[in-house]
Amino acid sequence: MKTVDSFKHNEVLGMKFGHGLFSKPKMFVHTYFIDGLLIDTGQSNCRRQVLSAIKDLNVEQVLITHYHEDHSGNIKGVKQLFDVPVYASEKCCEIMKNPPRISLPQKILWGNREAQHNLIPLENTIETTNFTFEIHPIPGHAIDMIALYEPNRKWLFSADLYVNSYIGYFLKEESMATQIQSIKKVLNLDFEVLFCSHNPQFKGGRKLLEKKLVFFENFFESVRVLHDKGFSPKEIFKHLGLKEHGYIKQFSSNSLSKFNMVNSVVRDIENECLPS
Ligand SMILES: [Zn+2]
Repeated sequence: MKTVDSFKHNEVLGMKFGHGLFSKPKMFVHTYFIDGLLIDTGQSNCRRQVLSAIKDLNVEQVLITHYHEDHSGNIKGVKQLFDVPVYASEKCCEIMKNPPRISLPQKILWGNREAQHNLIPLENTIETTNFTFEIHPIPGHAIDMIALYEPNRKWLFSADLYVNSYIGYFLKEESMATQIQSIKKVLNLDFEVLFCSHNPQFKGGRKLLEKKLVFFENFFESVRVLHDKGFSPKEIFKHLGLKEHGYIKQFSSNSLSKFNMVNSVVRDIENECLPS
């Protein structure tokens, strides 16, 4: 079952796409359209819905926030519709030339995406007719991830930096210390609206992001204390009384799990990548 929804917040059009295999979708992805700029292209499982939602828009340029398949899933289709430049961070442009394989559950949930060889690396800003967006690297969830910030309107397009104040699982490659650094960096910006790719917040986004920062800092510290005592990741997981979201871990063939969060902290400590 597929669902499409949309909203308008000032000049920003948000389009929300969901795909559920046997039931109503539980997870959604947003793409945003503002002044000729399309931010992200959604998941390929909703390709028909995405292309139909944007076909009458005056898309002049596209920006991809990071390489994950729910953001980069329809670049090819969008380019066929509009033949416009597609921008991304330098790292994202590199990764998208040969994107990592995704697990079968990810394919079922979001769908795969094609390699892209002609993405254009962005530097400090991207301009539309009426706005100048600052580009801020926000690695951690994905190494190539960027946010867009419009200081006059106090808009922050935060990709997957927020998603929720509480996080129950990580991908294997995520770094909690780097996410903490990215959240701290973004909290220095004077933003009011958080255009999150999964969970937009028109009010109170700063508080929610601060809450996520506290959650991560506490999680990091509790793992660090046990790691310093010589506990293994498995022992830390048990000692902290953590529990997996059974179906998510199972459904994702372990590519998404809470154990990955513990592992992430241990890896960060061993690589001397610390939250501050
Ligand atoms: Zn992501």
